[in-house]
Amino acid sequence: MRILVTGGAGFIGSHLIDRLMALDHDVICLDNFYTGSKRNVEHWLDHPRFKLIEHDIIESIELDVDRIYHLACPASPVHYQADPIKTIKTNVFGTLHMLGIAKRTGARLLMASTSEVYGDPDVHPQSEEYWGNVNCTGIRSNYDEGKRMAETLCFDYHRQHGVEIRVARIFNTYGDRMFENDGRVVSNFIVQSLQGIPLTVYGDGSQTRSFCFVSDLVEGLMRLMNGDYIGPVNLGNPGEYTILQLAQMIQGMVNPNAEIVFKPLPQDDPRRRRPDISKAKQYLNWEPTVQIEEGLTRAIAYFRSRVG
Ligand code: NAD
Ligand code: UDP
Repeated sequence: MRILVTGGAGFIGSHLIDRLMALDHDVICLDNFYTGSKRNVEHWLDHPRFKLIEHDIIESIELDVDRIYHLACPASPVHYQADPIKTIKTNVFGTLHMLGIAKRTGARLLMASTSEVYGDPDVHPQSEEYWGNVNCTGIRSNYDEGKRMAETLCFDYHRQHGVEIRVARIFNTYGDRMFENDGRVVSNFIVQSLQGIPLTVYGDGSQTRSFCFVSDLVEGLMRLMNGDYIGPVNLGNPGEYTILQLAQMIQGMVNPNAEIVFKPLPQDDPRRRRPDISKAKQYLNWEPTVQIEEGLTRAIAYFRSRVG
């Protein structure tokens, strides 16, 4: 199959491309290198079944493909907040352009949505039926509302034009190929402890997240794309930890002498997050297999090779 991966030079996208290439597909990676890098896909650059196109999805593009994994969008709060209007354009215009390709070519499109559509959730754990609690004027809204609109666009293209869609709500995912300066919590804590500088816990660290290793996540995305279930479906690891627990875990694994410091909690930072993955289990026969200790060990080994 001819498969387009938008955001393919990013963290999750590049792992997905490795899996698709190993299955002998023709893969087009579309990326503007905002938070991704050619380095993540450089091992495929000379391969005859691989094509890299530098393109910003805010602008339209004509491509003929069978499948679209639509991942292009900065995922770290630091990066999506750096140019919030651009983030909105990426999610709205970018998703419109990709749905346009799907409509014209009959391709199936998988949208990489997010647990952020639940905002600061009143319901815990979060199931797909929950409509969320998102502040539409806050500093996270460009991403949260952008992704909500992207989901809406997918469902309207499906209802109005019969476009085949799949919608994944991805929960916090980590692993190798995250950038040292990505700004998300797992890479921050690992890099800080490797560099012997204090781990920066925002707030009192009592807020929770649930961390999924990237190989598990990619398996879930592929099962969703290849199955009949449209979604939206939560993909994440239900193991829930406070941010302080995570800091202490990484401190213990990398450098027990590392200091932990407390910084102000960013506005609208969700207090808790944990996926209900009943639907993923039922419809995709999927659940994560990599436990946090193992995933962190692998991620630490990767960052050690980058900054150690
Ligand atoms: P990432 O930042 O590493 O990758 C995003 C990629 O998209 C980068 O390569 C970037 O250069 C590219 N990109 C951004 N804007 C673009 C544009 N306008 N045109 C073309 N390319 C553009 O992030 P990631 O963690 O790999 O996330 C991938 C997708 O999964 C994103 O859509 C993100 O919202 C979603 N997601 C990720 C997580 C997570 O924890 N990693 C959680 C929920 C949702
Ligand atoms: N966080 C932290 N220290 C950091 C980076 C993040 O304490 O150096 C916290 C952040 O406030 C949030 C959680 O870790 O509560 C997860 O943040 P991240 O940016 O990884 O993802 P989010 O789930 O907030 O989008």
